[in-house]
Amino acid sequence: MEKQTITIGLPRALLYYRYAPLWKTFFQELGMETVVSSPTDRDILEQGTALAIDEACLSLKIYLGHVAALVGRCDCILVPRVSNFGRHRNMCTRFESTPDLVRSVFRDSGQKFLSYEVDEELKKGEEEAFVELGKALGSTAKAAKKAYKAAKKAEAAFHKERVQKHEQLYKRENIKVLIAAHSYVIEDPYMGRAVTEYLKRAGVISLRADLVDREAALKHSRELSPTCKWEISREILGGIQQHKDDVDGIILLSAFPCGPDAMVNELITRRVKGVPMLNLVLDSQSGTAGVETRLESFIDIIRFKEGKL
Ligand code: SF4
Repeated sequence: MEKQTITIGLPRALLYYRYAPLWKTFFQELGMETVVSSPTDRDILEQGTALAIDEACLSLKIYLGHVAALVGRCDCILVPRVSNFGRHRNMCTRFESTPDLVRSVFRDSGQKFLSYEVDEELKKGEEEAFVELGKALGSTAKAAKKAYKAAKKAEAAFHKERVQKHEQLYKRENIKVLIAAHSYVIEDPYMGRAVTEYLKRAGVISLRADLVDREAALKHSRELSPTCKWEISREILGGIQQHKDDVDGIILLSAFPCGPDAMVNELITRRVKGVPMLNLVLDSQSGTAGVETRLESFIDIIRFKEGKL
């Protein structure tokens, strides 16, 4: 009898925006298929909001909507637990709790979930986690290790190419604004996309603080804060530190209510001086009109400051 291909569901939210090349290549190398939920739309947002508790951040609400969209469409849905990459290299606690949360929310759905755990402080490294993941799916340890190596290569090449392309934008002449946001906030159609599209229409070049060489950014982040413990926030801090003098303004873009951003954005506004800054917090009720009004005023301030208004 022909062996059936396993299909893994990948919710297009949260860590998908960081790990898509890693996940897709890993499963593909092991002969499995992946299915990704469609870009966020109103239905996904509403469904996720209905499933989450009120206090959950908008990013998590959207994530739950994406999980719901995959239920029944695949053999397992991947929900990883990524805790830390070592001391002072933590991820937001949401990434520790999502596997338990998702299993609890969807306990009556009949859907299977798949996870892996990265917790370097407990000596659980990423490679080991992926080998265990491969074995849980029926692969040998050797095949899983090989697939992981290929996936890491694909991940590094994807990020490097993106960063190189992005660096070219700094050479352009128009007004440039650096956006400090998590990738899953800035790239999501119901969160950051409205901001980047508005800026594009206004003739402003939007740059991303998170699209930088990650190792270099972690080092630069210490110049703004030697103690910030969140890995992604540190990458963003490093990106700001490297590029704050190359741009005309900075937008701090967060999903409501975000604990790490509440602290880190306050730190940025206190320590980064001499460049206009806008703090935008998005929630499910934000709507584009209010956001656009604030962006319009911010761009006017930049133009006025530079004598272009
Ligand atoms: S960092 Fe903020 S937006 Fe991201 S998952 Fe944590 S609380 Fe939500």
